Amino acid sequence: MLKVRGIDRALMRMVNEAARDSLPNEFAAMLREEDGVVQELVLLPGTLQGKDSATLMLHMMPIDYSIVGTVHSHPGYSNRPSRQDLELFRRSGYVHVITCLPFDEGSWRAYDGAGRPLRLPVVDL
Ligand SMILES: [Zn+2]
Repeated sequence: MLKVRGIDRALMRMVNEAARDSLPNEFAAMLREEDGVVQELVLLPGTLQGKDSATLMLHMMPIDYSIVGTVHSHPGYSNRPSRQDLELFRRSGYVHVITCLPFDEGSWRAYDGAGRPLRLPVVDL
């Protein structure tokens, strides 16, 4: 069922840069895959950015089956999903990435729709 085999290294670098630029707020976007690799961000209009939560406006989500999940940043040192994150994961796909400080290659983690850690290899396209 899982059609995603990895995430593009350049995309993850872009996410971490956006996360840094968004401080002290969170950064949030949807993830799109192509050929089994997550390689594009979809920014939703009306996405609220706050210190504690990045609320994705799911009703604004285009009908697009290449969107596989979400990514957001935590302005702290934990990349564990909050209770609201788990609720978001459950409703919006099966690949979810949370990155945290210091926003580098080792500071993010992927989860499935149930909030379980997901192995998501970094690939170079
Ligand atoms: Zn979160």
